[in-house]
Amino acid sequence: MKEIRWIKNNICQYVFIENEDNPHMEVNITVLTNGENAMLIDTAFANQASVVKNDLMSKDITVDEIILSHYHPDHAAGATVFEDTILSCSVHYENNFNNCNVIWDKEHDYRKPQQIILDNTTKKYGDFSLAFFETPGHSKCSIMTLIDDRIAHVGDLLMSDVSGKPTLPNIGYDGSLEEHLNSLKLIKALDAEVLILSHGKHFVGKEEIDHAIDMRIHYLKSILKSKDKVDLEDILIGGSNKWAFTEWHRKNLMKL
Ligand SMILES: [Zn+2]
Repeated sequence: MKEIRWIKNNICQYVFIENEDNPHMEVNITVLTNGENAMLIDTAFANQASVVKNDLMSKDITVDEIILSHYHPDHAAGATVFEDTILSCSVHYENNFNNCNVIWDKEHDYRKPQQIILDNTTKKYGDFSLAFFETPGHSKCSIMTLIDDRIAHVGDLLMSDVSGKPTLPNIGYDGSLEEHLNSLKLIKALDAEVLILSHGKHFVGKEEIDHAIDMRIHYLKSILKSKDKVDLEDILIGGSNKWAFTEWHRKNLMKL
């Protein structure tokens, strides 16, 4: 584990380097503590989930619920470490669950969720008030979790690399440029005070959040408008050397 980042006194993230092949990307497991229990948002891979489980156990905290921001291996595979824990994810999870098992990452095991999350629903967890919104674009099953009306966990809708550089939006196999754009607009309209990411450090305050969203919206709008006749250098605010994972651009263009 790299570090524990505290968002507030009962919300933190366990931060890991995603894997040795990709030292530029972190993966985070978010923990909401409720007395002697905890809810996770995302579980990374099993070895990383085990570190979180053991650390929480050493503090007499038991994980009793898990929410997945979407069903991709780097978010879902760790759920196997928490066998008896209620696992919840989007109603649209099934294709990606199958892809995890059959195509993407067969060496890991995956759990089927016990509960599905519908758009625009709410839930109490201890003193936390949670609201869930479908935010497709990166993947069809992406959901955002809004905590206490002011802290938004946005999954992979916004990502940063280890140095804090923004990554390009990443449009997955069942993702969509238009849906990604609309999901970013929805996140912005929430006017949250903190955005929690699954990859990278959280954003705090309106100025930082709006800037992070706007620069990604600019990229998406630009490629949607100019189709594939677009020079990456012209559409990345600050220039491409200020961005990470620019190689995703080519794959994103295939979604036009
Ligand atoms: Zn991810």
